[in-house]
Amino acid sequence: MNTKTKRLSIRQFEITPEVLARIRGDIDAVQGEQSKDIRCAYCGRLILRKFPDAQGHISGKCAKCGREYTINVANWRRVPQY
Ligand SMILES: [Zn+2]
Repeated sequence: MNTKTKRLSIRQFEITPEVLARIRGDIDAVQGEQSKDIRCAYCGRLILRKFPDAQGHISGKCAKCGREYTINVANWRRVPQY
């Protein structure tokens, strides 16, 4: 039996006041807007939430099942889970 454990490498970054202000501004910009969940088509895990003005392609990897995907958020419809 393999008893090796994988060490996690976690980098810590200092967030600058400018970046923090930008994040807060982005949150304020969508306050009250209806968001839509985008879930992994393979396992159903929540990947991200999109707002009505979201558009374009994103690429990522599901943290649960590990599958990679590229989707156009403007056209994304939830794939039914069977
Ligand atoms: Zn998944």
